[in-house]
Amino acid sequence: MKILKFGGTSVGSADNIRRVKDIIQNQNNRVVIVVSALGGITDRLIKAATLAAEGDGQYASEVKQIVEIHQDSIKSLFSDEQKQQEVFDMVAPEFDELNSITKGVFLIRELSRKSLESISGIGERLSSKIIASFLNAKWFDSRKYIKTYVEYGRSQVDLEATNKLLLEVVPKLDKISLFPGFISSNKKGDNTTLGRGGSDYTASLLAASFDADMLEIWTDVNGFMTADPKVISRAYCIEHLSYAEAMELSHFGAKVIYPPTILPAYQKKIPITIKNTFNPETPGTLIDGQKETPKPRQIKGISSIKNVSLLTVHGMGMVGVSGISMRLFASLAAEEINVILISQASSENSISIVIESDQSEKARKAIEKEFKRELDDRHISGIVIDDQMAVVAIVGENMKHTTGMSGLLFNSVGKNGVNVYAIAQGASELNISFVIKERDIKKALNVIHESFFLSDYSRLNLFLVGKGTVGSKLLNKIAAQSEKLMNENRLKIRLIGLAGRKGMLLNNEGMDASTAIENLEKESIPGTVEDFRDRIIDMNLANSVFVDCSASGEVAAIYQSLLDANVSVVTANKIASSSSYSTYKKLKDTAREKGIRFFFETNVGAGLPIIAPINDLVRSGDKIVRLEAVLSGTLNYIVNTLSEDKPLSEVIIEAKEKGFSEPDPRVDLSGTDVVRKSLILARESGYNLEEADVQVEPFVPQEYLDLPSLEEFMRKVKELDAPFEERRQKALKEGKRLRYGARLTSEGKAVVGLMEVDRTHPFYDLEGSNNIVLIWSEHYFEHPMQIKGYGAGADVTAAGVFADIIKVANV
Ligand code: ADP
Ligand code: ASP
Ligand code: MG
Repeated sequence: MKILKFGGTSVGSADNIRRVKDIIQNQNNRVVIVVSALGGITDRLIKAATLAAEGDGQYASEVKQIVEIHQDSIKSLFSDEQKQQEVFDMVAPEFDELNSITKGVFLIRELSRKSLESISGIGERLSSKIIASFLNAKWFDSRKYIKTYVEYGRSQVDLEATNKLLLEVVPKLDKISLFPGFISSNKKGDNTTLGRGGSDYTASLLAASFDADMLEIWTDVNGFMTADPKVISRAYCIEHLSYAEAMELSHFGAKVIYPPTILPAYQKKIPITIKNTFNPETPGTLIDGQKETPKPRQIKGISSIKNVSLLTVHGMGMVGVSGISMRLFASLAAEEINVILISQASSENSISIVIESDQSEKARKAIEKEFKRELDDRHISGIVIDDQMAVVAIVGENMKHTTGMSGLLFNSVGKNGVNVYAIAQGASELNISFVIKERDIKKALNVIHESFFLSDYSRLNLFLVGKGTVGSKLLNKIAAQSEKLMNENRLKIRLIGLAGRKGMLLNNEGMDASTAIENLEKESIPGTVEDFRDRIIDMNLANSVFVDCSASGEVAAIYQSLLDANVSVVTANKIASSSSYSTYKKLKDTAREKGIRFFFETNVGAGLPIIAPINDLVRSGDKIVRLEAVLSGTLNYIVNTLSEDKPLSEVIIEAKEKGFSEPDPRVDLSGTDVVRKSLILARESGYNLEEADVQVEPFVPQEYLDLPSLEEFMRKVKELDAPFEERRQKALKEGKRLRYGARLTSEGKAVVGLMEVDRTHPFYDLEGSNNIVLIWSEHYFEHPMQIKGYGAGADVTAAGVFADIIKVANV
């Protein structure tokens, strides 16, 4: 014999009830069916009762809707009018009772436990009668067999009495029998219930007493999942769980099965399967006592509980005093307060417990009363209650004797800025639970799920500022590479936010990178860079990366607060790293302390890997003693293009027109850009340098740069054509070429300016707008390390930014 329990959604509509019929018709053996109320009805009943107790006349329309929902499903299930009438008559007593009890509650403005239990159980009485008629099943009234008594403010099942009564039913069972779930009665015969979600428990009690071969829980998901699929869309179905694992997961919030359900099945060694009514072919989850082969995962699932408070009692006077915890828990038990988690440090100067939030004030009073003397004497210094907390638990029998589980767990949540307030691990090592802020639940579950279950691919959540040439090329790359990244790097980059100068676009689920700019223009929400930052921090997504493809100081100014909120930063914008040393240092330190990333490889040499090799050298213990570099593609283009027939002024115009220079070429010609890049290289090489420490000779004399307008500059710069050509000719005669370079020496001295190099110097052959960096270190002393190549342009910069983003994912 099999017990099949169908939950609220499984019987939520006439169509769904027809699915249930199909499932029943496919069974070969005798079956006992347990049904919940039609989906959502229990909530509505409780709402009607509460409204009535508050004296709110709205209760009556709630009741009316409940009645109509049932009438509609009867009409839709039974086409035969006579049969329809029969069923209407059958449920009439329930409708009458619902009307009269709620009216009574409304009149006396009081909702006793007894009335509430009566009202909330009406849903199962109605659904079971309707479905039993539809399935031609023999109907049994569970209230006659399942007996309860009250303990700690809740109805508990009187197992002995219940089992005895149920055994008497066995001979009366039919081929298809049906029992309402959830409802029961006490000794006096009053209606009671088994607690929210209790239909599962009804089914398990029947399974145990009837000695069933199998208990099947039919619901709206494919089985027991690695996490709540409503929170983690990538959760997947667990094939097998032990009774203990299922118990822990459900106890810590996995609603798919009501926790007390496990025990009766476990005691009788009855296997439980969780099945999907809407997808009956999938095997679902098997819960039993069998050992697993092959070797299963260490962690089976993650669950969480919300609406809880963390209550901490602390004081030096508690250390070494016996009886404190006994008195604490006794005082809570006396007030019927359920303790969900306990954590005590071995120093004994504090005990933390987790309780349901609506009991926290009651708990405080109970503890204050119990420890009045200790509080007066300051042996206990205080009781602190943190509200809006949550408990997260990871569960798996194979965590036993496996090291590194908590390391992985707390490392992944910590990296994402989720603060852990208390931790508890039972000696059974089956469960590690910890307390966090409720607002961090989704993030915590996501990162844990990713670390333990989805090592097959990781996910980055991207926020981009800047939709200019670099930004748009980056988006194209993301769109074009996404499939390859998934296949080859097991990485999914989701574009969550995009901001331009005037507004932003955000989508929690990610947006199409190829159309994002277009959409931003059409439908952006107005806001500043700071608003964008606030939204990113509020979204609180795991593995978030902020990407700056702008050249704006305002954007650079938000990096610190993003890093503080555990958002990694990748930037093509030089401003932050070349501003004051203390700003640069603080950004780097924050990233390191938080275990996140601050990457700016494209700040120097665009797509050329320069900063990363320097970092690698420094990290390996090498010391960089000297650097020489050509870091301006624009200026290198200019010196390489100068000739007898192409004077300086013309080449400057050409560079501007070809887009090789900044829109205002004076920015390049002043040498400032090279100074900033040198500063970054020097800092990354371990030198504490400020902009003022760099000795700079501008490419053209300062008085030209100081001219009030660009037009005037372009006019006047012609005066330099002759002296420049003279200098070039002189160098040429000596077999040398002009280069605008930067040099850093071991004393930390940095010089930027025009130099002449001969044929033996690596700069000599530097073509076009290329960049070069020579690095002398203790290991690369005689022959410097050389990095040379194309060092400017939106394409290579976008590629460099993209590479940095991928690096964030890989660390
Ligand atoms: P029923 O009405 O069938 O009893 P419930 O709503 O009580 O269904 O339980 C099923 C729901 O439990 C799912 O829709 C899902 O949102 C939730 N749930 C929470 N944690 C888990 C989990 N680990 N696996 C599967 N479902 C879960
Ligand atoms: N209908 C009840 C509830 O919603 C019992 C159940 O569905 O298991 O809690
Ligand atoms: Mg349920």
